[in-house]
Amino acid sequence: MADRISSAELRQLMRWQRRMIAVMVVTWSFVLLFIAVEVVFDLPRELEISGFAVMLLLVAVGVVIQFSERCPSCGKRIGWQSGVIVPESCGRCGVVFRPREGDRDG
Ligand SMILES: [Zn+2]
Repeated sequence: MADRISSAELRQLMRWQRRMIAVMVVTWSFVLLFIAVEVVFDLPRELEISGFAVMLLLVAVGVVIQFSERCPSCGKRIGWQSGVIVPESCGRCGVVFRPREGDRDG
């Protein structure tokens, strides 16, 4: 079994990582903005409920993206192994999710 993944597979994992970070940044920005607006303006009930709905939606999108990516070698979902960052290696098959030396980009 290969102990490394191809650079195409690595790029795919890095794309997933960027998406995870983007979703997390958007979610937290929204949550903080919502809390700030709520504190300052004391929003009406309907707007509070809408705000919570959007938050839940963002969290749901994050979870879906998190569990959408799999280890290219064994297929184990990466979402079980890490938060938003691609782990060093796969916890099941041990394949390394890092570029080879001298293989930075092809
Ligand atoms: Zn694996």
